[in-house]
Amino acid sequence: MEAGGRRSEDQVETAAARLSWSAPSQWNSTLGSDLTPYLEIGGDYRQVLPGAYLIELPLPYSLGRINVYLLRRADRFMLIDCGMDTEPCFQALERALEGIGAPWAEIREILLTHVHPDHMGLTQRLLKLTGARLLMHAEELKYLDRLSAMDEYSAWSADVLREAGVGARMIARIGEAAHEIHKSFRRLEPHQRLHGGEKIQSEAGELEVLWTPGHSPGHICLYGTGRRVLFAGDQILEHISPNIGWHPEQDPLGDYLASLDVLERLEIDLILPSHGAPFSGHRDWIRKTREHHAERCTRILGLLNGRSASATDLVPGLWDRELTPFHYRFAVFEILAHLEHLERQSKVARVRQGEVVRWRVNGGTAGHNKQD
Ligand SMILES: [Zn+2]
Ligand SMILES: [Zn+2]
Repeated sequence: MEAGGRRSEDQVETAAARLSWSAPSQWNSTLGSDLTPYLEIGGDYRQVLPGAYLIELPLPYSLGRINVYLLRRADRFMLIDCGMDTEPCFQALERALEGIGAPWAEIREILLTHVHPDHMGLTQRLLKLTGARLLMHAEELKYLDRLSAMDEYSAWSADVLREAGVGARMIARIGEAAHEIHKSFRRLEPHQRLHGGEKIQSEAGELEVLWTPGHSPGHICLYGTGRRVLFAGDQILEHISPNIGWHPEQDPLGDYLASLDVLERLEIDLILPSHGAPFSGHRDWIRKTREHHAERCTRILGLLNGRSASATDLVPGLWDRELTPFHYRFAVFEILAHLEHLERQSKVARVRQGEVVRWRVNGGTAGHNKQD
């Protein structure tokens, strides 16, 4: 996103639909120039701060790449995120660590920003290999426990989709598409459950754990006051708006916007994201991202003007292209997150009709949908 520019609708849609575990293919990583010669196969790395390395790992299909970070801590290292559970990803990481001079045995801590498969996929394998301590947010662990109870989670997900008005055939196709991804969710036993506020000493300075829920319930960022740097996970990504999906009994969009309020107040010169090149200008990015979600809310209210509709009914009004089952699920959960947020502001209300929940503008009839 250029300063003063606007994300194209297509970029936003693409990103919104798939960002949970992907990076957009349109990214032109600018990392190539001063990197090691592993560009083609992944495993490129570079020092982004004294004592902090960015390692770029390949993701399968058209998913792009993920950045994991390696922090030097006196005589040992901490790895921030692990990459996807694929052989190319593992090998790329191994190559990069060799290049940096960080043997497996010196990785004493692994910290997960969140548990999406591109971030946590290799965790179990790396824990075995390194004997490292695992750190993750307590809320993310609860989320992972739900995800890794695969049969229950799939049944729950099908119920949510049915209630949102998705047809039986599409639910079955979504189930098939999710099966492969789901295999990478395995229970983890962290050595330390984070809550936010913990301090991590490193050669890149002291880093504070910030709990930034929204993209995921226990998503965390690391903030270094001294160097005014943010290890941003998927919270802030330069060219795209991170996917915000619905979670039960939560207001993920409200949580996400509140997390952005916290980050906006920080002095940040360098954002180190999990996808794409490092960049700066967090306040501008936050302003545009708020606008994006406000626009989406306004469009939903417009689509509900004078009628009630299920979340599924709203999909074509917000995505004007064919969605794969996988992306269709993201779209429905993203709409549900926006509806939940609007409901908590008393702007919409739900009406149950049989199995399906429909939504209407609160007190609204055609031409009467005042929003405050
Ligand atoms: Zn993610
Ligand atoms: Zn990600």
